[in-house]
Amino acid sequence: MHIHNLSETPSILNTFISELRDKNIQKDRLRFRRNIERIGEVLGYELSKSLTFEAHQVETPLGTSNTVLHKDDIVLCSILRAGVPLHNGLLNYFDAADNAFISAYRHHKDNPESFEVIVEYLACPSLDNKTLILADPMLATGQSIVATFEALKPFGTPKDVHLVSVIGAQQGVDFVNAEFDENAHLWIAAIDDTLNSKGYIIPGLGDAGDLAFGNKLQQ
Ligand code: URA
Repeated sequence: MHIHNLSETPSILNTFISELRDKNIQKDRLRFRRNIERIGEVLGYELSKSLTFEAHQVETPLGTSNTVLHKDDIVLCSILRAGVPLHNGLLNYFDAADNAFISAYRHHKDNPESFEVIVEYLACPSLDNKTLILADPMLATGQSIVATFEALKPFGTPKDVHLVSVIGAQQGVDFVNAEFDENAHLWIAAIDDTLNSKGYIIPGLGDAGDLAFGNKLQQ
């Protein structure tokens, strides 16, 4: 897998990540969602450099301009609910993309420190020969994104696979690196060292779904 850790090169992205992490600023839900969306836009822009391009001519009022435009058919797939702002950011740039949504949650059986990922709702177009972008804002263990990819397999075989994430734990990055094909890409804004026993990224930012949309009752 090709891993693109964008925080290796300092940029305006650091400001967005820092505001997401900051325990005072992150209380502003609108700003939190918008910062994830902005990171989706930046990651989408970086990802776009690896797409396939073909020649295109544009007629202006004064002449002809030659350019290249990407020709890939893109499917954006996100995991509900925390993935929604990241999905919106990617969709702001890939405006003709088809979209897939999946619900995946952690089911803790007896031990609160172990869980399995349950996939339920799934709406997906054909993936045959598509460029699949899988968005998961928090790449903690990596199990959700791997379970999502497995659940998508009956929908066809994409020609390219890109994972997009805001913050990952090194352990989750290592896991997806081992599970996905060597040609797949991971575009990620920051990688933290630690995952705690409950599967939260440390220092991370907390619960991305709750921060974006409010607390939920635990079931
Ligand atoms: N999901 C989150 O929202 N935060 C984490 O730290 C890990 C998974």
